Amino acid sequence: MDYLFPPEPTVSVGIVGRSERFPVRRIYCVGHNYVSHILETGRDPDRESPFFFNKPSDGIVGDRESLPYPPATASLHHEVELVVAIMQGGYEIPPEQAEDHIFGYAVGVDLTRRDLQQVAEDRSLPWTAAKAFDRSAPCGLLTPKGGCPQMNAGQIALTVNDRPRQDADLGEMIWSVPEIVSYLSRMFELKPGDLVFTGTPSGVGFVLPGDRIEATIEGLTPLRFSIEDAD
Ligand code: MN
Repeated sequence: MDYLFPPEPTVSVGIVGRSERFPVRRIYCVGHNYVSHILETGRDPDRESPFFFNKPSDGIVGDRESLPYPPATASLHHEVELVVAIMQGGYEIPPEQAEDHIFGYAVGVDLTRRDLQQVAEDRSLPWTAAKAFDRSAPCGLLTPKGGCPQMNAGQIALTVNDRPRQDADLGEMIWSVPEIVSYLSRMFELKPGDLVFTGTPSGVGFVLPGDRIEATIEGLTPLRFSIEDAD
């Protein structure tokens, strides 16, 4: 096929112990999936249920990369999240079959322009500028599901310059991984290459130029990245 100009290369994520890479199609994200984070945003967990939004697939930042501090914000926040990688697509997947559609898991960070998110909320606008900006989706190496524990419990944590910021347990998720895959597949046809960021616990906070971020989930390879120095 002739294109008017060369298409952008396919975005991909590395896989632990494999030379092949996981090609990324779409990035879905879950909002408000931990009670502790709903509480720290000043909302009522009894009245908030999880929901979905998207990030662009070319927003992926790989392990040990650095990114420039993004424009148009004075409040760039970290949100450590379990990332689910879909290998087998489908519609209306029952929770008990969700596992069959999953390739594996990674540690991700949902970078957020918190100040723009507040503006969006105040004015009932979409979250696009707050959540779906360039380089907003750092994602570590994927561990195939056979090589890690079941992702229904285990520590999820994040440090900035070695100082603890977030520290929680995957068992606190409101929607479990199978429930997320099932809900998503009722609204969208899932396809191989889809990634799902599954929400963040409390402790979100800002990062600054020069900061080193390390995000960890028990049983998975840590994700490390940094924000470039301003100059
Ligand atoms: Mn998030």
